[in-house]
Amino acid sequence: MDITFSPALHRQRHQFVIDFIKKNKPKKVVDLGCSECSLLKQLKFHCEIELLAGVDIDGAKVKKKMHGLAPMSTDYLQPRNDQLLVEMYQGSVTQRDARLRGFDLATSIELIEHLTLADVERFSEVVFGYMSPAAVIVSTPNYEFNPLFPRLTGFRHSDHKFEWTRAEFKSWALKVCVDHGYEVEFTGVGRAPPGQQERVGFCSQIGVFHRLGGREVCNVFCDDADNALSYTLLYSKNYPSLHDNNILRRVLATEVLYWAEQLRRRWVEEETGQGDDADTPAEGEGKECHRVSEQHLEMEEKQTAAAMKNLVEHQDVEDGELFWTEGQQESGRLRRCVSVPLSMLWSRCPKVGALSGSLGNLRRLLMDHPDVKLSQDGSAVLLNDQEQGITEEEEDRDNLEDSGFAEARRCSHSCEPEEDWDADALASGDK
Ligand code: SAH
Repeated sequence: MDITFSPALHRQRHQFVIDFIKKNKPKKVVDLGCSECSLLKQLKFHCEIELLAGVDIDGAKVKKKMHGLAPMSTDYLQPRNDQLLVEMYQGSVTQRDARLRGFDLATSIELIEHLTLADVERFSEVVFGYMSPAAVIVSTPNYEFNPLFPRLTGFRHSDHKFEWTRAEFKSWALKVCVDHGYEVEFTGVGRAPPGQQERVGFCSQIGVFHRLGGREVCNVFCDDADNALSYTLLYSKNYPSLHDNNILRRVLATEVLYWAEQLRRRWVEEETGQGDDADTPAEGEGKECHRVSEQHLEMEEKQTAAAMKNLVEHQDVEDGELFWTEGQQESGRLRRCVSVPLSMLWSRCPKVGALSGSLGNLRRLLMDHPDVKLSQDGSAVLLNDQEQGITEEEEDRDNLEDSGFAEARRCSHSCEPEEDWDADALASGDK
Protein backbone atom coordinates (compact mmCIF):
# COMPACT_ATOMS: atom_id res chain seq x y z
CA MET A 1 0.00 0.00 0.00
CA ASP A 2 1.32 3.47 -0.94
CA ILE A 3 2.34 5.66 1.93
CA THR A 4 0.43 8.95 2.27
CA PHE A 5 1.20 12.09 4.25
CA SER A 6 -1.14 14.38 6.08
CA PRO A 7 -0.71 17.28 5.52
CA ALA A 8 0.67 16.62 2.03
CA LEU A 9 4.47 16.43 1.90
CA HIS A 10 4.95 19.65 -0.11
CA ARG A 11 2.83 21.48 2.49
CA GLN A 12 4.95 20.04 5.31
CA ARG A 13 8.10 21.32 3.57
CA HIS A 14 6.65 24.82 3.20
CA GLN A 15 5.34 24.76 6.77
CA PHE A 16 8.84 23.93 7.95
CA VAL A 17 10.08 27.15 6.30
CA ILE A 18 7.18 29.17 7.73
CA ASP A 19 7.89 27.87 11.25
CA PHE A 20 11.56 28.79 10.84
CA ILE A 21 10.57 32.31 9.72
CA LYS A 22 8.18 32.76 12.64
CA LYS A 23 10.97 31.82 15.04
CA ASN A 24 13.92 33.62 13.44
CA LYS A 25 12.16 36.65 11.88
CA PRO A 26 14.41 37.20 8.84
CA LYS A 27 13.81 40.47 6.99
CA LYS A 28 15.19 39.43 3.60
CA VAL A 29 14.17 36.05 2.23
CA VAL A 30 14.91 34.48 -1.16
CA ASP A 31 13.42 31.25 -2.47
CA LEU A 32 15.76 29.49 -4.92
CA GLY A 33 14.02 27.32 -7.52
CA CYS A 34 10.73 28.97 -6.57
CA SER A 35 8.80 27.44 -9.49
CA GLU A 36 5.22 28.80 -9.43
CA CYS A 37 5.78 30.95 -6.34
CA SER A 38 3.63 28.85 -4.01
CA LEU A 39 5.97 29.21 -0.99
CA LEU A 40 6.45 32.94 -1.64
CA LYS A 41 2.69 33.49 -1.71
CA GLN A 42 2.50 32.22 1.85
CA LEU A 43 5.54 34.16 3.00
CA LYS A 44 4.17 37.54 1.94
CA PHE A 45 1.81 37.39 4.93
CA HIS A 46 4.74 37.48 7.36
CA CYS A 47 5.00 41.06 8.45
CA GLU A 48 8.65 40.99 9.47
CA ILE A 49 9.76 40.27 5.91
CA GLU A 50 10.76 43.44 4.04
CA LEU A 51 12.32 41.91 0.94
CA LEU A 52 10.94 38.74 -0.61
CA ALA A 53 12.66 37.41 -3.71
CA GLY A 54 12.31 34.35 -5.88
CA VAL A 55 14.47 32.93 -8.64
CA ASP A 56 13.92 30.07 -11.04
CA ILE A 57 15.65 29.01 -14.25
CA ASP A 58 12.25 28.50 -15.83
CA GLY A 59 10.91 32.05 -16.38
CA ALA A 60 7.62 30.76 -17.83
CA LYS A 61 6.78 28.96 -14.58
CA VAL A 62 7.43 32.12 -12.55
CA LYS A 63 5.44 34.33 -14.93
CA LYS A 64 2.45 31.99 -14.77
CA LYS A 65 1.69 32.74 -11.12
CA MET A 66 3.80 35.75 -10.09
CA HIS A 67 0.86 38.17 -10.25
CA GLY A 68 -0.59 36.29 -7.29
CA LEU A 69 2.15 38.03 -5.31
CA ALA A 70 0.58 41.46 -5.89
CA PRO A 71 -0.94 43.31 -2.91
CA MET A 72 -4.62 42.59 -2.24
CA SER A 73 -7.24 45.23 -1.45
CA THR A 74 -6.78 44.48 2.25
CA ASP A 75 -3.11 45.46 1.91
CA TYR A 76 -4.27 48.93 0.82
CA LEU A 77 -6.97 49.21 3.48
CA GLN A 78 -4.72 47.98 6.28
CA PRO A 79 -1.22 48.95 5.12
CA ARG A 80 1.75 47.25 6.73
CA ASN A 81 3.93 49.10 9.23
CA ASP A 82 7.11 48.11 7.41
CA GLN A 83 7.79 48.05 3.72
CA LEU A 84 7.68 44.90 1.62
CA LEU A 85 9.34 44.64 -1.76
CA VAL A 86 8.69 41.52 -3.84
CA GLU A 87 11.14 40.76 -6.65
CA MET A 88 11.04 37.79 -9.03
CA TYR A 89 13.94 36.75 -11.24
CA GLN A 90 14.63 34.34 -14.02
CA GLY A 91 18.12 32.91 -13.59
CA SER A 92 20.23 29.95 -12.55
CA VAL A 93 21.44 29.27 -9.03
CA THR A 94 24.75 28.25 -10.60
CA GLN A 95 25.37 31.88 -11.58
CA ARG A 96 26.11 34.92 -9.47
CA ASP A 97 23.86 37.93 -9.18
CA ALA A 98 24.74 40.72 -6.77
CA ARG A 99 21.06 41.49 -6.08
CA LEU A 100 20.77 38.24 -4.13
CA ARG A 101 23.55 39.02 -1.66
CA GLY A 102 23.02 40.05 1.93
CA PHE A 103 19.85 38.02 2.57
CA ASP A 104 18.91 36.70 6.01
CA LEU A 105 17.48 33.46 4.66
CA ALA A 106 17.72 31.50 1.39
CA THR A 107 15.50 28.47 0.88
CA SER A 108 16.22 25.70 -1.59
CA ILE A 109 13.26 23.35 -1.44
CA GLU A 110 13.58 20.21 -3.60
CA LEU A 111 15.95 22.00 -5.98
CA ILE A 112 19.45 20.48 -5.79
CA GLU A 113 18.39 17.04 -7.05
CA HIS A 114 17.46 18.76 -10.36
CA LEU A 115 21.10 19.83 -10.83
CA THR A 116 23.98 17.75 -12.17
CA LEU A 117 26.65 17.03 -9.55
CA ALA A 118 28.93 19.57 -11.26
CA ASP A 119 26.16 22.17 -10.91
CA VAL A 120 25.65 21.25 -7.25
CA GLU A 121 29.28 22.27 -6.75
CA ARG A 122 28.55 25.62 -8.47
CA PHE A 123 25.36 25.98 -6.40
CA SER A 124 27.42 25.54 -3.19
CA GLU A 125 29.91 28.16 -4.30
CA VAL A 126 27.27 30.66 -5.48
CA VAL A 127 24.82 30.25 -2.60
CA PHE A 128 27.12 29.72 0.39
CA GLY A 129 30.28 31.38 -0.93
CA TYR A 130 28.88 34.37 -2.86
CA MET A 131 25.29 35.11 -1.78
CA SER A 132 26.30 34.13 1.73
CA PRO A 133 22.92 34.46 3.48
CA ALA A 134 22.80 34.25 7.28
CA ALA A 135 20.74 31.03 7.06
CA VAL A 136 20.00 28.48 4.33
CA ILE A 137 17.35 25.75 4.35
CA VAL A 138 18.02 22.94 1.86
CA SER A 139 15.54 20.10 1.37
CA THR A 140 16.06 17.11 -0.92
CA PRO A 141 14.59 13.60 -1.21
CA ASN A 142 16.00 10.96 1.12
CA TYR A 143 16.83 7.94 -1.04
CA GLU A 144 16.61 5.55 1.94
CA PHE A 145 12.89 6.27 2.21
CA ASN A 146 12.15 5.16 -1.36
CA PRO A 147 11.54 1.43 -0.62
CA LEU A 148 8.41 2.59 1.27
CA PHE A 149 6.95 3.54 -2.15
CA PRO A 150 6.45 -0.02 -3.52
CA ARG A 151 5.52 1.10 -7.03
CA LEU A 152 8.47 3.49 -7.41
CA THR A 153 11.13 2.54 -9.92
CA GLY A 154 14.17 4.83 -10.28
CA PHE A 155 13.95 8.31 -8.79
CA ARG A 156 10.84 10.13 -7.56
CA HIS A 157 10.80 12.52 -10.54
CA SER A 158 11.99 12.06 -14.12
CA ASP A 159 14.10 15.26 -13.92
CA HIS A 160 15.99 14.22 -10.77
CA LYS A 161 19.71 13.77 -11.48
CA PHE A 162 20.30 12.00 -8.14
CA GLU A 163 18.66 11.25 -4.83
CA TRP A 164 20.95 11.08 -1.80
CA THR A 165 21.04 8.84 1.23
CA ARG A 166 21.31 10.61 4.58
CA ALA A 167 25.06 9.92 4.63
CA GLU A 168 25.55 11.43 1.15
CA PHE A 169 23.57 14.55 2.05
CA LYS A 170 25.49 14.88 5.29
CA SER A 171 28.86 14.58 3.58
CA TRP A 172 27.96 17.31 1.03
CA ALA A 173 26.55 19.59 3.76
CA LEU A 174 29.55 19.24 6.07
CA LYS A 175 31.95 20.05 3.22
CA VAL A 176 29.90 23.20 2.44
CA CYS A 177 30.22 24.21 6.11
CA VAL A 178 33.99 23.74 6.12
CA ASP A 179 34.47 25.54 2.78
CA HIS A 180 32.22 28.52 3.48
CA GLY A 181 32.01 28.95 7.27
CA TYR A 182 28.59 27.56 8.19
CA GLU A 183 27.22 25.07 10.71
CA VAL A 184 24.37 22.70 9.93
CA GLU A 185 21.60 20.76 11.68
CA PHE A 186 19.84 17.83 10.02
CA THR A 187 16.14 17.15 10.22
CA GLY A 188 13.29 16.49 7.81
CA VAL A 189 9.56 16.21 7.14
CA GLY A 190 7.37 13.25 6.19
CA ARG A 191 7.72 10.73 8.98
CA ALA A 192 8.07 7.01 8.32
CA PRO A 193 5.43 4.63 9.74
CA PRO A 194 5.84 3.73 13.43
CA GLY A 195 8.95 1.71 14.14
CA GLN A 196 10.68 2.57 10.84
CA GLN A 197 11.70 6.21 11.37
CA GLU A 198 15.18 5.48 12.66
CA ARG A 199 15.94 2.96 9.92
CA VAL A 200 14.76 5.01 6.90
CA GLY A 201 14.64 8.60 8.19
CA PHE A 202 12.34 11.38 6.86
CA CYS A 203 10.90 11.30 3.35
CA SER A 204 12.35 14.80 2.65
CA GLN A 205 15.66 15.40 4.39
CA ILE A 206 16.45 18.96 5.43
CA GLY A 207 19.67 20.74 6.33
CA VAL A 208 19.39 24.04 8.22
CA PHE A 209 22.60 26.03 7.81
CA HIS A 210 23.66 29.04 9.86
CA ARG A 211 26.58 31.19 8.90
CA LEU A 212 29.22 31.21 11.63
CA GLY A 213 29.38 34.63 13.22
CA GLY A 214 25.67 35.31 12.53
CA ARG A 215 23.95 37.95 10.43
CA GLU A 216 26.47 40.75 10.93
CA VAL A 217 29.49 39.08 9.37
CA CYS A 218 28.19 39.53 5.82
CA ASN A 219 28.52 43.29 6.07
CA VAL A 220 32.24 42.82 6.59
CA PHE A 221 32.81 40.39 3.72
CA CYS A 222 30.15 41.54 1.25
CA ASP A 223 32.29 43.98 -0.68
CA ASP A 224 30.99 45.38 -3.93
CA ALA A 225 33.90 44.03 -5.96
CA ASP A 226 31.78 41.45 -7.78
CA ASN A 227 28.67 43.17 -9.07
CA ALA A 228 27.50 40.48 -11.46
CA LEU A 229 23.92 40.95 -12.70
CA SER A 230 23.12 37.74 -14.54
CA TYR A 231 19.42 37.38 -13.67
CA THR A 232 16.45 38.92 -15.47
CA LEU A 233 14.04 40.85 -13.29
CA LEU A 234 10.53 39.62 -14.14
CA TYR A 235 8.48 41.31 -11.47
CA SER A 236 8.95 43.97 -8.82
CA LYS A 237 6.25 45.26 -6.50
CA ASN A 238 6.34 47.55 -3.50
CA TYR A 239 3.57 46.89 -0.99
CA PRO A 240 1.68 49.83 0.51
CA SER A 241 3.12 50.62 3.93
CA LEU A 242 3.05 53.35 6.52
CA HIS A 243 6.54 54.28 5.34
CA ASP A 244 4.79 56.00 2.44
CA ASN A 245 3.82 59.43 3.78
CA ASN A 246 0.63 59.66 1.71
CA ILE A 247 -0.56 56.32 3.04
CA LEU A 248 0.38 57.25 6.60
CA ARG A 249 -1.61 60.51 6.31
CA ARG A 250 -4.65 58.69 4.94
CA VAL A 251 -4.64 56.04 7.68
CA LEU A 252 -3.98 58.62 10.38
CA ALA A 253 -6.81 60.88 9.15
CA THR A 254 -9.27 57.95 9.20
CA GLU A 255 -8.20 57.05 12.70
CA VAL A 256 -8.31 60.66 13.97
CA LEU A 257 -11.77 61.29 12.50
CA TYR A 258 -13.11 58.07 13.98
CA TRP A 259 -11.80 58.76 17.48
CA ALA A 260 -12.64 62.49 17.38
CA GLU A 261 -16.21 61.49 16.59
CA GLN A 262 -16.27 59.07 19.54
CA LEU A 263 -15.05 61.84 21.83
CA ARG A 264 -17.57 64.30 20.38
CA ARG A 265 -20.49 61.93 20.94
CA ARG A 266 -19.46 61.16 24.50
CA TRP A 267 -19.05 64.87 25.27
CA VAL A 268 -22.34 65.92 23.63
CA GLU A 269 -24.10 63.24 25.66
CA GLU A 270 -22.60 64.63 28.86
CA GLU A 271 -23.31 68.26 27.92
CA THR A 272 -26.89 67.78 26.86
CA GLY A 273 -27.78 64.75 28.96
CA GLN A 274 -28.80 62.87 25.85
CA GLY A 275 -27.21 61.17 22.89
CA ASP A 276 -27.43 62.70 19.43
CA ASP A 277 -29.40 59.74 18.12
CA ALA A 278 -30.37 61.50 14.95
CA ASP A 279 -27.13 60.45 13.41
CA THR A 280 -25.96 57.87 15.91
CA PRO A 281 -25.15 54.83 13.87
CA ALA A 282 -26.63 51.50 14.73
CA GLU A 283 -24.40 49.12 16.66
CA GLY A 284 -21.13 48.72 14.82
CA GLU A 285 -22.05 51.11 11.99
CA GLY A 286 -19.71 53.97 11.19
CA LYS A 287 -16.69 51.76 11.56
CA GLU A 288 -17.18 50.37 8.10
CA CYS A 289 -13.74 51.44 6.98
CA HIS A 290 -12.30 49.28 9.71
CA ARG A 291 -14.08 46.22 8.45
CA VAL A 292 -11.76 44.47 6.15
CA SER A 293 -11.83 40.81 6.95
CA GLU A 294 -12.94 38.55 9.76
CA GLN A 295 -9.45 38.56 11.18
CA HIS A 296 -9.11 42.31 11.01
CA LEU A 297 -12.55 42.73 12.51
CA GLU A 298 -11.58 40.70 15.54
CA MET A 299 -8.34 42.63 15.91
CA GLU A 300 -10.14 45.97 15.47
CA GLU A 301 -12.72 45.03 18.08
CA LYS A 302 -10.02 44.26 20.60
CA GLN A 303 -8.21 47.51 19.80
CA THR A 304 -11.45 49.47 19.93
CA ALA A 305 -12.32 48.04 23.35
CA ALA A 306 -8.84 48.85 24.65
CA ALA A 307 -8.93 52.37 23.22
CA MET A 308 -12.43 52.98 24.61
CA LYS A 309 -11.17 51.94 28.03
CA ASN A 310 -8.29 54.35 27.53
CA LEU A 311 -10.67 57.18 26.63
CA VAL A 312 -12.60 56.68 29.85
CA GLU A 313 -9.66 56.04 32.18
CA HIS A 314 -7.71 59.11 31.10
CA GLN A 315 -10.52 61.58 31.43
CA ASP A 316 -8.88 63.52 34.24
CA VAL A 317 -5.54 63.86 32.45
CA GLU A 318 -4.65 67.43 31.41
CA ASP A 319 -4.95 67.26 27.65
CA GLY A 320 -7.34 70.04 26.77
CA GLU A 321 -11.12 70.12 26.59
CA LEU A 322 -13.83 69.86 24.00
CA PHE A 323 -15.92 72.96 23.39
CA TRP A 324 -18.41 74.46 20.95
CA THR A 325 -16.94 76.83 18.46
CA GLU A 326 -18.15 78.81 15.52
CA GLY A 327 -17.82 76.99 12.27
CA GLN A 328 -18.19 78.20 8.73
CA GLN A 329 -21.05 80.00 7.15
CA GLU A 330 -22.85 77.54 4.87
CA SER A 331 -26.07 78.00 2.91
CA GLY A 332 -26.91 81.05 4.93
CA ARG A 333 -26.68 79.23 8.23
CA LEU A 334 -23.83 79.21 10.68
CA ARG A 335 -22.59 75.71 11.24
CA ARG A 336 -21.60 75.12 14.85
CA CYS A 337 -18.54 72.95 15.42
CA VAL A 338 -17.15 70.88 18.25
CA SER A 339 -13.45 71.41 18.84
CA VAL A 340 -11.59 68.22 19.80
CA PRO A 341 -8.01 68.92 20.99
CA LEU A 342 -5.30 67.05 19.12
CA SER A 343 -3.45 66.59 22.42
CA MET A 344 -6.42 64.59 23.72
CA LEU A 345 -6.53 62.40 20.61
CA TRP A 346 -2.79 61.90 20.79
CA SER A 347 -2.67 60.90 24.44
CA ARG A 348 -5.89 58.87 24.63
CA CYS A 349 -6.02 56.99 21.33
CA PRO A 350 -3.11 54.54 21.27
CA LYS A 351 -3.17 54.02 17.50
CA VAL A 352 -3.15 57.75 16.79
CA GLY A 353 -0.16 58.12 19.12
CA ALA A 354 1.65 55.14 17.59
CA LEU A 355 1.08 56.28 14.00
CA SER A 356 2.19 59.87 14.54
CA GLY A 357 4.97 59.45 17.11
CA SER A 358 4.64 62.96 18.54
CA LEU A 359 2.01 65.66 18.87
CA GLY A 360 4.00 67.88 16.53
CA ASN A 361 4.08 65.16 13.89
CA LEU A 362 0.37 64.57 14.29
CA ARG A 363 -0.32 68.23 13.56
CA ARG A 364 2.05 68.28 10.60
CA LEU A 365 0.56 65.12 9.09
CA LEU A 366 -3.01 66.36 9.39
CA MET A 367 -2.30 69.84 8.14
CA ASP A 368 -3.88 70.45 4.73
CA HIS A 369 -5.47 67.00 4.73
CA PRO A 370 -8.64 67.41 2.65
CA ASP A 371 -10.84 65.41 5.07
CA VAL A 372 -9.65 66.90 8.36
CA LYS A 373 -10.63 70.40 9.45
CA LEU A 374 -8.17 71.84 11.96
CA SER A 375 -8.68 74.93 14.12
CA GLN A 376 -6.80 78.04 13.01
CA ASP A 377 -3.90 77.44 15.41
CA GLY A 378 -3.81 73.76 14.37
CA SER A 379 -4.36 72.53 17.93
CA ALA A 380 -7.78 70.88 17.48
CA VAL A 381 -9.92 68.97 15.02
CA LEU A 382 -13.21 70.69 14.24
CA LEU A 383 -16.22 68.44 13.77
CA ASN A 384 -19.56 69.71 12.58
CA ASP A 385 -22.20 69.61 15.25
CA GLN A 386 -24.83 67.56 13.48
CA GLU A 387 -27.77 68.75 15.59
CA GLN A 388 -27.26 72.45 15.08
CA GLY A 389 -25.82 72.57 11.66
CA ILE A 390 -27.34 71.70 8.38
CA THR A 391 -26.34 68.21 7.29
CA GLU A 392 -24.95 67.52 3.87
CA GLU A 393 -28.02 65.47 2.96
CA GLU A 394 -30.25 68.38 3.95
CA GLU A 395 -28.11 70.68 1.90
CA ASP A 396 -28.25 68.37 -1.14
CA ARG A 397 -32.01 68.08 -0.75
CA ASP A 398 -32.40 71.87 -0.55
CA ASN A 399 -30.30 72.34 -3.63
CA LEU A 400 -32.23 69.73 -5.56
CA GLU A 401 -35.60 71.21 -4.57
CA ASP A 402 -34.32 74.61 -5.70
CA SER A 403 -33.25 73.25 -9.06
CA GLY A 404 -36.62 71.58 -9.72
CA PHE A 405 -34.88 68.23 -10.19
CA ALA A 406 -36.75 66.58 -7.33
CA GLU A 407 -40.09 67.45 -8.95
CA ALA A 408 -39.03 65.96 -12.24
CA ARG A 409 -37.72 62.83 -10.49
CA ARG A 410 -40.97 62.35 -8.53
CA CYS A 411 -42.85 62.58 -11.81
CA SER A 412 -40.62 60.15 -13.63
CA HIS A 413 -41.12 57.65 -10.80
CA SER A 414 -44.88 57.80 -10.90
CA CYS A 415 -45.23 58.03 -14.70
CA GLU A 416 -42.95 55.30 -15.97
CA PRO A 417 -43.48 51.68 -15.07
CA GLU A 418 -40.42 50.11 -13.46
CA GLU A 419 -38.61 47.66 -15.61
CA ASP A 420 -38.87 44.16 -14.22
CA TRP A 421 -35.57 42.52 -15.05
CA ASP A 422 -36.49 39.35 -13.26
CA ALA A 423 -39.83 38.84 -14.94
CA ASP A 424 -38.80 35.67 -16.74
CA ALA A 425 -37.29 34.20 -13.66
CA LEU A 426 -40.39 35.05 -11.62
CA ALA A 427 -42.69 33.60 -14.24
CA SER A 428 -40.81 30.33 -14.28
CA GLY A 429 -40.73 30.33 -10.49
CA ASP A 430 -36.93 30.32 -10.67
CA LYS A 431 -35.63 32.88 -8.18
N1 SAH B 1 10.84 24.87 -4.68
C1 SAH B 1 9.60 24.54 -5.33
C2 SAH B 1 9.74 23.71 -6.60
C3 SAH B 1 10.79 22.66 -6.69
S1 SAH B 1 10.91 21.94 -8.30
C4 SAH B 1 8.65 23.92 -4.32
O1 SAH B 1 8.95 23.90 -3.16
O2 SAH B 1 7.58 23.51 -4.71
C5 SAH B 1 12.48 22.51 -8.79
C6 SAH B 1 12.50 23.88 -9.40
O3 SAH B 1 13.86 24.24 -9.58
C7 SAH B 1 11.86 23.95 -10.77
O4 SAH B 1 10.93 24.97 -10.81
C8 SAH B 1 13.02 24.22 -11.73
O5 SAH B 1 12.66 25.02 -12.83
C9 SAH B 1 14.00 24.92 -10.81
N2 SAH B 1 15.40 24.82 -11.25
C10 SAH B 1 16.03 23.79 -11.82
N3 SAH B 1 17.31 24.10 -12.08
C11 SAH B 1 17.50 25.37 -11.67
C12 SAH B 1 18.61 26.26 -11.65
N4 SAH B 1 19.80 25.90 -12.14
N5 SAH B 1 18.43 27.50 -11.16
C13 SAH B 1 17.23 27.88 -10.67
N6 SAH B 1 16.16 27.08 -10.66
C14 SAH B 1 16.28 25.84 -11.13
